[in-house]
Order: sequence, then structure tokens, then C-alpha cells
Amino acid sequence: MPNHATQDGLARVVERGLRDTLRAMFEARSYRHCKRCGAPVEYRVPAGDNRERATCTACGTVFYENPLNVVGTVPAWNDQVLLCRRNIEPRYGLWTLPAGFLELGETTAAGAVRETIEEAGARIELLGLFTVLNVVRVGQVHLFYRAQLLDTVFAPGPESIEARLFGETEVPWDELAFRTVRETLKHYFEDRRRDQFRLHCADIA
Ligand code: ZN
Repeated sequence: MPNHATQDGLARVVERGLRDTLRAMFEARSYRHCKRCGAPVEYRVPAGDNRERATCTACGTVFYENPLNVVGTVPAWNDQVLLCRRNIEPRYGLWTLPAGFLELGETTAAGAVRETIEEAGARIELLGLFTVLNVVRVGQVHLFYRAQLLDTVFAPGPESIEARLFGETEVPWDELAFRTVRETLKHYFEDRRRDQFRLHCADIA
């Protein structure tokens, strides 16, 4: 019989899942007003296009919505990897690899390094691209690079409660924030055992 703590935990997970699904549904049609003139937009298929786009009812400007890139790293120190405990929603209190949205004017590699500095205060040397994960449900592509930590001095930023190293058997597998993090870590430790890292591409349901 599950105790109250377990039931509460389960309820929180279900609530989080619902909230994420709702957010994804709304984000797919996020425009209400024209960014150029402020008039209401309408979703319609522009001439020569094949899907509905946010179209300004006054000036006719068409706004395109496309998947966002999330970039991050797997920072390693010997047989351990660096994880951060999230200090922000969604998934507050759960563990993640340092990662975040790619900014305009930034390469994926530069974004991955920046996120690692911002979230963990970690100094790294970036190695190869390691996972490319499509998360079609939420309109995102997650890219993780392998990285070598240059030392073990961390300074978690405001988005992290703490940052620390975990060996494979210590990883809090049931308290990971995202499926892409779980997938990336799984491949990382598998490849590490074989002593051969390769690029992994997958679709995450
Ligand atoms: Zn307009």
C-alpha cells in the first residue's frame, strides 16, 4: 500500500505532465497579436503554403513557429558526470545535465558551454556532439555535447540548487528532470563501458 509521501509524489508528477502537455499545445499556437502592428492574428494557410500560420488580420504579416533548440553538455570527471539540481520550474528539485535554450547569434557549441557555466559554474573543454534528440511533442530538438571538466570547482547559478558529480550507480535515475537527460546519460555510460563514444540520434515520445 503506497504511503502518503509516495502518493503526493505521484500526484506532483501527474500534475507536471499535464502542465507540460497543456503548455506544448498552447505553444503550437502562441500568437494572438501581430508583433509588427498589434492587430489580432488569425491562423490560416498562406498562398503556396501547406499549413496554418499566424497571419495578421491588418497588415498581412505571416509569423512562423518552428521547433526550439535546447543545447547542453555531459561534463565528465574520470568516471563521474556533473548534474545540476533544478531551482526553477518546470521540474523543480529534480536533476538535470546543464542545458537550456539556444540564443540567437550563438552556435550550438557556444550555447552548450554558456549553459554549463550559467547552471553549474563549471569550466569545461567541449568534446564531440553526443546526442540529437527530437522531442516533437513539445516542439524541441535537444543537442548534448560531451565535455571534459577542467577542475571540480563548481559554482551553481541561480537556476540550480546544487551541482555535483555522480558515478553511474549514484545517478538519481528516478529523479531526473527530463527524458532527454535520461537517454543521454544512458548512452553515455554504455559508450563509456565500451570505451567508444559515438553520436546517438533518437526520437523521444
Ligand atoms: Zn500586423
